[in-house]
Amino acid sequence: MTNVSIPSRAAVVIVGGGMAGLSCAASLAQQGVSDVVLLEAKTLAHAGASSFGESRMFREMYSDPVLCRLAQEANRLWRIEEQRSGEVLRQTHGLLFYGESWDEETIEGSIPGARRVMDDQGIPYEALDATQIAERFPLRPRPDFSGLFEPTAGAVRSDRVIAHWTRTARAAGHRLIEHCPVKAVDPRAGSVTLESGETIEAAQVVVACGIWSQLLLAPHGLAPKLEVWPMLWAHYTVDSDQADRYPQWFCFQQERGDDGGLYYGFPVLSRTEDGRPKIKAGIDWAPKDLRVDAPNAMAKEPPARLVELLDHFLFNNVSGIQERVETVISPYSMASDVNFVLDRMGPRLSLFSGGSGQAFKFAPLIGSSLARLAIGATPTVDLSCWSRDRDAVRV
Ligand SMILES: Cc1cc2nc3c(=O)[nH]c(=O)nc-3n(C[C@H](O)[C@H](O)[C@H](O)COP(=O)(O)OP(=O)(O)OC[C@H]3O[C@@H](n4cnc5c(N)ncnc54)[C@H](O)[C@@H]3O)c2cc1C
Repeated sequence: MTNVSIPSRAAVVIVGGGMAGLSCAASLAQQGVSDVVLLEAKTLAHAGASSFGESRMFREMYSDPVLCRLAQEANRLWRIEEQRSGEVLRQTHGLLFYGESWDEETIEGSIPGARRVMDDQGIPYEALDATQIAERFPLRPRPDFSGLFEPTAGAVRSDRVIAHWTRTARAAGHRLIEHCPVKAVDPRAGSVTLESGETIEAAQVVVACGIWSQLLLAPHGLAPKLEVWPMLWAHYTVDSDQADRYPQWFCFQQERGDDGGLYYGFPVLSRTEDGRPKIKAGIDWAPKDLRVDAPNAMAKEPPARLVELLDHFLFNNVSGIQERVETVISPYSMASDVNFVLDRMGPRLSLFSGGSGQAFKFAPLIGSSLARLAIGATPTVDLSCWSRDRDAVRV
């Protein structure tokens, strides 16, 4: 924050420069609100934040009918956003849910649950058996596996979205200030105190600090009940002759020993510096002993056993995998019902947190809803499933 002048007042102060803070800033710009300041402790969507990286899945294939409808609303807003940006912000190449079907919901839903909801809501999909999956994709499903392919799903290009919203906010004259950690917020007065000691008086404050939101809210008894999960993902180079055959996939398997069973992967969306095609893949569970309450207590290095499990899955279940070239740990902010918190926390304070592994696809809806709370309006759709008052997050 060298030599940056800090305003003493602002109409809206947003704390946090990840997906939620930037989508809120862009939405305020689109609604003609000026005098907005966004404060980011490090850099926008930095490597330790939940929004880091090139891709996130979007889908309507949910076992929860409410999330399925909200995903449809988010897709409507994405289309508007894409028209505004003139860029491809999402790539539609479909999504394969495949694996075991058992009578239990995981943090990503389940194959039978998603099928029921898609039938009810008329969302198109193809049902595939293990032979059909193996013929169509470079995957090696077990004979008892089955799958659902949602052709209208795909990947949000999260890095492009972050860049687009950054440009949108800056073009509107918003101040996006990096390397500017906030020490405290006052939910009643609306003031924000920086680590540097300066104070900004704000008409409205939006806390969008991901896993770190707890640190600002706890002194006021306002922190929702959320855990921090360290989530492992990596890039793997793949055979060039298979490069255009990889689907976006999510594999459901029951937990066995220390293998949580849930794995996912993307098609080839980028290449290594020396031009080799690579896919992103990850695991979608965190062992209980690695889940923490305190954000800064999260494991920073990829745990060796999880890396071993991810390698084992990729090399045994996906064809054409060459080598792991990048290994990353990113945080999930996780409620026990895997749903978010987007709500007003006081007369001058609103919050988004608890984005788990799901929130990016809802980003335009999250941004416009936070922006509406900041201008004293209510979100355009019913977001009671993200309320701070539900049992899953109430302390
Ligand atoms: C590995 C992984 C895979 C995912 N996959 C998907 C997917 O496929 N589909 C999907 O829809 N979603 C997915 N998600 C979820 C989605 O990416 C996150 O929910 C979302 O990015 C969270 O954004 P955020 O802005 O809330 O948090 P963050 O991106 O963490 O941003 C919070 C920011 O606040 C800043 N900050 C913290 N404290 C302060 C302070 N005191 N002062 C100033 N700044 C502060 C931080 O430095 C950080 O930059 C995934 C998440 C992860 C981690």
